[in-house]
Amino acid sequence: MAAGTSSWLDDIAPEILSKLHSDGDTVARFAADYGSITNDAPPAAVLRPSSPEDIAALIRCANGAKSPFSIAARGNGHSAHGQAFAPGGVVIDMAELRGGSGQRIRVSAEESYVDAGGEQLWIDVLEETLRHGLSMRSWVDYLYLTVGGTLSNAGVGGMVFRHGPLVSSVLELDVITGKGEMITCSPELNSDLFYGVLGGLGQLGVISRARISLCPTPAKVRWLRLFYTDFDNLIRDQEFLISLRDTTGFDFVEGQVLLNHQQVDDPNFFSIEEAEKINQLTAEFNAVYLLEGAVLFDSTSVVDQKVEGLLKQLNFVPSFAFSKDVGHLEFLNRVYVEEEHRKSSMAVDPSQIRHPWLNLFVPKSRIRDFQTGTEGILQNINPTGVVLLYPMNRNRWNENMTVVFPEEEVFYTVEFLWTSTEEDWKKLDACNNEILEFCHRQGIQAKQYLANYTSQTDWMEHFGEVKWEKFLQLKQTYDPKALLSPGQHIFTK
Ligand code: FAD
Repeated sequence: MAAGTSSWLDDIAPEILSKLHSDGDTVARFAADYGSITNDAPPAAVLRPSSPEDIAALIRCANGAKSPFSIAARGNGHSAHGQAFAPGGVVIDMAELRGGSGQRIRVSAEESYVDAGGEQLWIDVLEETLRHGLSMRSWVDYLYLTVGGTLSNAGVGGMVFRHGPLVSSVLELDVITGKGEMITCSPELNSDLFYGVLGGLGQLGVISRARISLCPTPAKVRWLRLFYTDFDNLIRDQEFLISLRDTTGFDFVEGQVLLNHQQVDDPNFFSIEEAEKINQLTAEFNAVYLLEGAVLFDSTSVVDQKVEGLLKQLNFVPSFAFSKDVGHLEFLNRVYVEEEHRKSSMAVDPSQIRHPWLNLFVPKSRIRDFQTGTEGILQNINPTGVVLLYPMNRNRWNENMTVVFPEEEVFYTVEFLWTSTEEDWKKLDACNNEILEFCHRQGIQAKQYLANYTSQTDWMEHFGEVKWEKFLQLKQTYDPKALLSPGQHIFTK
C-alpha cells in the first residue's frame, strides 16, 4: 500500500505498510459477512499479517498515530451484524496466519491439551486432536468458525449442559492487547485479562493462541432424533436429560422447532420413507418439535442398553424415534453437511441470501410464555430457517468471564436462524424486534447471545451494573483508546 493516500498511514511502520491492502475488491470483501445485512462500512485497509508480531506492531502504530484508527480481527466473517467490521480503519485478515509454519495447531497428548492459533478453524483443530484419539469436551455446532471469533463470544452447542460453553475448556491464552502488548494469561496468570477476553467480544485484545483441554474420545456416536407434537413434553424431556449425571444420560442434547409444517430434508440422516413419515406428522400438526441427542460409545452392546433405558423414560410420539451410528468427526461436522445440502437445494443464488439471526438465552421459568408469544408473532409471516431451542445448566458457566447469561439455574438457548432474500430480510428483522419487545413487555429476562446493540445504554443493560463496571475497567486498562472491534458498537458508534 502506498503511503500518503490517507493521513494516518504516515504513522505506520514501513514493514507493516507493505502488508496493508486497500484495493476496492479487498475492502469490499471485508465490509461483508455471513449475515449480509450491512455492507456500507468498509475498512480503509486490510492487514495480511505474517505473524502475531505484525498484529502487535499494527496496534502499536494505531496507538501512536496522530489520529488513532480502529482495528478489528476478522476470524471467518461468520458474524451476522458486522461485528468484525472496522469502518475507516483496518481489518486484520486472521486467515492469513492459517497457512503459517506448523499450521499453529499443536497437541500435547501427555498433558491432554491443544495449542491452537486464534485464526484456526475448529474443523482443523478437531482433525488434529482426533489423530491422537483426543477431542474437546464441548463443541459448537458448526466447525468452520475460528478459535478467536468463537472464544470472543462463548461457543454454544449440545454439550454445554454438561461441560459448559467452549470458553470453559480454555486453560491459557496469548493475547495482543489494545496497546499492542503480547500477554500470556490463565486463571493463575493475569487472570483479569484471561476472564475478560473470554466472551469479551474482541474488546480487550486479539487472541493469538488458545490452550484448550482435551479428553480421550470414544470412536463412535449414536445420533438420535425424536419427534414431539407437544411442547411441554419436549421441554420436560430435555430438562430431564440435562439433569442426568455424566455417564447415565445423553452426551449431547439439542432441540428444534419445526415451523409452519416445515418438511424435513436431510438425506444424510433420514431415509426417503422416514422423511415421508415425518412430513405426514408435520402436515397433520400445527407445531412439531425435534429433540436431537447423542451418546458417545465404544461398545455397541453397552450403548444399546443405555439408549433403550433412556428412551423408555421419554415422551416423544411413539414410533417417531430415529437413530444412526456415525464416527465422531461425522457427527461433529453434521451442520456443515446440512448447510451445504441446504445451499445446493436453494432456488436463489446463495450470495443473495441474508441471515438476520437472533440468538437469545431465555430463563427456564419463562420458556413456555416465550414459546407461546413467539409462535403468535411468527404464525403470520411464514419465515424460512431453523429455530433451535434447548436448555443448559448455569453451573457450567463461569461468572468471572465477560460472557453474559441469565440468572436462573437452567436457561434455554433459542436461536432464530433465518434465511431470507434481499427483499424480505427487513420483515424478519422487524419480527426479531417484535420478539425482543415481547420479552421486554412481559418481563422475560432474556439475554442476547452474539448481541446486536448499537447504543452503549443497551450494552450497559445487557451486561448489568456489576459486569459492566468490571468490563469498563478492563477496557480502560487493555484498550484505553477504544481501538478494537468497533463493529460491536460498544465503545464506538
Ligand atoms: P468473526 O465473525 O470473524 O468475528 C466475531 C467477533 O470476534 C468480531 O468482533 C471480531 O472482531 C472478533 N474476533 C475474531 N477473531 C478474533 C480473535 N482472534 N481475537 C479476538 N477477537 C476476535 N456460535 C456458537 O456459539 N455455536 C454454534 O454452533 C454456532 N454455529 C454457527 C453456524 C453458522 C453457520 C454461523 C454463521 C455462525 C455460528 N455461530 C455459532 C456464531 C459464531 O460463533 C459467531 O459468528 C462468531 O463470531 C465466530 O465466527 P468467526 O470465527 O467467523 O468470527
